[in-house]
Amino acid sequence: MTRFLITGGSGFIGSNFIRHILKNQREILVTNLDKLTYAGNRENTKEFESDARYEFVHGDICDAKQVGQLVPKVDVVVHFAAESHVDRSIDSAHDFVQTNVLGTNTLLEVAKRSKIKRFIHFSTDEVYGSRREGSFAEVDALNPSSPYSASKAGSDLLALAYWKTHKVPVTVIRSSNNFGPYQFPEKAIPLFITNLIDGKKIPLYGKGENVRDWIFVEDCTRATETILERGLPGEIYNVAGYSEMNNLELTKMILREFDRDERFIEYVADRPAHDFRYSIQAKKLAGLGFVVKSNMRERLRQTIQWYREHEEWWRPLKKDAYTVK
Ligand code: NAD
Repeated sequence: MTRFLITGGSGFIGSNFIRHILKNQREILVTNLDKLTYAGNRENTKEFESDARYEFVHGDICDAKQVGQLVPKVDVVVHFAAESHVDRSIDSAHDFVQTNVLGTNTLLEVAKRSKIKRFIHFSTDEVYGSRREGSFAEVDALNPSSPYSASKAGSDLLALAYWKTHKVPVTVIRSSNNFGPYQFPEKAIPLFITNLIDGKKIPLYGKGENVRDWIFVEDCTRATETILERGLPGEIYNVAGYSEMNNLELTKMILREFDRDERFIEYVADRPAHDFRYSIQAKKLAGLGFVVKSNMRERLRQTIQWYREHEEWWRPLKKDAYTVK
């Protein structure tokens, strides 16, 4: 029996990860600790709320007392909880430092005194910063640009320091941009899809030249499971989707699925310090036997279909979504 504590399990990737492990592993108990910020939603976990192996705890990773009661009872922590939207971090970084840095530190402090077997710290390719050519490997230095990625870089380094100093069995995962069902409709792909469903335009930063690498969320949750099974503490694993494209190419791909042309694009002023290109290579993860299975176009179609069929899920959330200025 493995007992999991998942932080941020009511958000996008966390809820997909819980769904995946409840489906694929039998002998597990899962506790989801989530603050239910604007990004956290009980609807994301509705499908498995009645599963006897699952329990929800409403709380904050910054609350040392609450974390102190939960962490010692589990074998594995998978830490997804974060403030995750770059544009919001540009408006104000306070909550990002609070949750991403101090919240992670609170978890690590308790983990230091507990007998947990694994601590997965879930992070992003954005911590490496931008590069025009080639791809970052896990040994490369961090060079974040936004307050969001800086707060994630800070928490990555703290987590790795707790491995080096206290032997907390930390593994850091750095993933490319995820997309798929249950993603909050302020992130690029669900924002574009839900705008088009409503006959509205797609807001595109600058000229749409910025390049991102996309991974379907189920590939990312499978990669996380592989790293839990075969990865090592003290190590960092990049999780790449190997689907790099610029934002204009992505937008055109989505427009085609809606039979719309470029008149449905509204070019907006660029984001400050907008990283030109994120690119990681994931040879270490491939060495654990992991292969990305998805085709971007097929998964995008499936995601569009999901948003078409789940209007009751995203419509109430859209009022809280960040609006591009
Ligand atoms: P999300 O914003 O959808 O979900 C975050 C969840 O964390 C929410 O349920 C929220 O309520 C919860 N939360 C926030 N602050 C909390 C706190 N103080 N205590 C407890 N819970 C709190 O985010 P996501 O897109 O699912 O991202 C999950 C993780 O993956 C984050 O750490 C993010 O940095 C990282 N990541 C995301 C992507 C991506 O493309 N979405 C890519 C790489 C890495």
